[in-house]
Amino acid sequence: MRALMYVDEKKMELQELPMPEGEVILRVLGCTVCGTDLKTFLHGHPYFKPPTILGHEFYGRVEKAPADSSFAPGDYVVAAPYGECGLCDACREGLPELCEKKDYVETGAFCEYVALSSAFAEKGLIRLAGPEPVYALTEPLACVLTGLEKMKTWPLDRVLVIGGGPMGTLAAMTLLEQQIPVQVAELNPARRAKLREWGIPCDSLENCYSSGEFNKILVAVNVAALVEEAVKKVKSGGQVLVFAGLPRDVNLSIPAYDLHYRFVSISGCSGYALPAFRKAYEIIKGNPARYQALITHRFPLEKGQEAMEILARGEAFKVMIEP
Ligand SMILES: [Zn+2]
Ligand SMILES: [Zn+2]
Repeated sequence: MRALMYVDEKKMELQELPMPEGEVILRVLGCTVCGTDLKTFLHGHPYFKPPTILGHEFYGRVEKAPADSSFAPGDYVVAAPYGECGLCDACREGLPELCEKKDYVETGAFCEYVALSSAFAEKGLIRLAGPEPVYALTEPLACVLTGLEKMKTWPLDRVLVIGGGPMGTLAAMTLLEQQIPVQVAELNPARRAKLREWGIPCDSLENCYSSGEFNKILVAVNVAALVEEAVKKVKSGGQVLVFAGLPRDVNLSIPAYDLHYRFVSISGCSGYALPAFRKAYEIIKGNPARYQALITHRFPLEKGQEAMEILARGEAFKVMIEP
């Protein structure tokens, strides 16, 4: 099969690999590029060492499944790239995102075929009505829902989302759907124009802050200074969510005053658990056209390098690679 191999920083290469072996085989039809894929491509990543196949936000068609499976060859599906075990301490303590024994789709999905165990397929696949690319956004939306769940927003909140990239945009769309007032702070004027086109209020960060106080601030940009500023600016009793992943060696400098006297709380989250994945699927199903608009570019596998470069230049929202 053909695979887009991440061979070195800033370098993707089309390679011919043996077919994967496994109980369930999926033909990947489209996989959107995640912020983590882009970060890895540009600067390397401690977990994803080259050479490897990146990509985890995908939909496809079942190619092979055992007779006792709920899925049969020809079924269109969206696949959770990983899922919690439900049995370990973290799962039992209500923190399935931190599961210690996650099940995975066995490789990245910037390639033609991926394998997974039959047991994981039962938990991690959702059947689609047909080849519907928009469901590749189920995983990023699941991560956003997990973040919003941690913030416990409610209709009287005023929420600021810092960063109008795909994750910030998904967060804003979800909040607006729940009738919760939200502003997005975004530097790039072209992106701001796009967000306004989608009915999402947005402005520069400076203008957002001068427009009044926010109870909840979701930081979807991986810059520590933005988190530190958010802690000072958030309304008393409010919450700051560190949603974008900061490099491991970054320390935050937070005034104790804000935590103690102003009751500000700061929290973080990453990833998702399977209930959020299913909820994200239902939300997209409720309004596929709205989410489809986020996929602004599509490239065949052999143009993977170009796909990454367009994203790096900030010219796209979601880019889909179609093997
Ligand atoms: Zn992702
Ligand atoms: Zn677990």
